[in-house]
Amino acid sequence: MSDTESSKPAAGAGSAWRPRTRAVHSGSRRSGYGETSEAIFLTQGFVYDSASQAEQRFVELGDDEFIYARYGNPTTRMFEDRIAAIEGAEAAFATASGMAAVNGALCSMLKAGDHVVSSRALFGSCLYILEEILTRYGVEVTFVDGADNEQWRAALRPDTRAVFLETVSNPTLEVVDLRAVCDMAHAVGATVVVDNVFATPIFQPVIEMGADVVIYSATKHIDGQGRCLGGVILGTEEFIRKTAEPYLKHTGGAMSPFNAWVMLKGLETLHLRCNAQADSALTIATALQGHEKLNKALYPLVESHPQFDLARQQMSRGGTVLALDLKGGKEAAFRFLDALEIIIISNNLGDAKSLVTHPATTTHQRLSEEQRATLGITDGLVRVSIGLEDTDDLLEDIQAALAAV
Ligand SMILES: *Cc1c(COP(=O)(O)O)cnc(C)c1O
Repeated sequence: MSDTESSKPAAGAGSAWRPRTRAVHSGSRRSGYGETSEAIFLTQGFVYDSASQAEQRFVELGDDEFIYARYGNPTTRMFEDRIAAIEGAEAAFATASGMAAVNGALCSMLKAGDHVVSSRALFGSCLYILEEILTRYGVEVTFVDGADNEQWRAALRPDTRAVFLETVSNPTLEVVDLRAVCDMAHAVGATVVVDNVFATPIFQPVIEMGADVVIYSATKHIDGQGRCLGGVILGTEEFIRKTAEPYLKHTGGAMSPFNAWVMLKGLETLHLRCNAQADSALTIATALQGHEKLNKALYPLVESHPQFDLARQQMSRGGTVLALDLKGGKEAAFRFLDALEIIIISNNLGDAKSLVTHPATTTHQRLSEEQRATLGITDGLVRVSIGLEDTDDLLEDIQAALAAV
């Protein structure tokens, strides 16, 4: 191999690999040095051998050719190829944050006059894009109760271009019947966009269930250790190359190569971390059922969840987040948060460190009291993101803090 050429697996290599192997090897490209760990190509631009080579690259980019890091970069491309292999998607475009991915996916496909149907239970910034931004540009948005298939059916129209949803949702862990919603959406020709952050890339194969476009905030489980912001849009080659990429490369939402490298290394341990975190979350949620200080201890794969049967069909594991509804409202919730010793107060999730937040006064403060009530975000609701600490230490921390309420 020449000393400047990079090597990458032959096309199709790894397609027979199981998910954990893909998470470690897919998408790797080695430089002439033959490095074991993926290199960080911390470069904005790329040098051409001749003027005509530059001209040719602007006509058409080959598989391993780059022109500017806002359009693509070898480290970023490794991350895109690896997450696409894990998700079973044809292609991916990495973005600066999860919100750049949500905004990019929606704005790249919609225009004034289009109609969108979205579930109401969304991450706060996603709700802002749908409610405040898209509507400002003449897109009509209808919100539905995501758990109610009849509301989806009634809202979908022949001019519906896109359907947007999170399952499970933030912070109330509501489950959408993904297969049914995809079938109804496809019957009117709409593109289904799923924000799959809470279910992680490994517990819910949404493309298999019919989703057309999948979005992750890589900031969460993909980094998994609370360091870098990032996001990714996954879909067909056609959607990514012809719709999402032109919008993103010209509007500047690209992922930094350094962050892409952190995310690549994060993918190598994704299965180990998420499975350990989901094990702890299930154990803790189960132990907290019927606790005297709680109205509810919600977790998708615990029987008390109102959509337990659906969650069990759609998800191999329940994810890493629990929602606890404390008796005694805000005062009780604040005492609980303040009494925790290991679990720290922070409005993030998917971190190795366990985190707790009070949605009504933080991430969902912007909503009216009525909107929060509709979404089930009570004053006593706290969201707990379970990390990698010892399960028993976390359970004891929660039990002691509940006793202090
Ligand atoms: C965090 C999050 C986002 C936004 O991701 P950022 O990386 O913070 O921009 C979008 N959707 C969901 C469900 C999230 O949890």
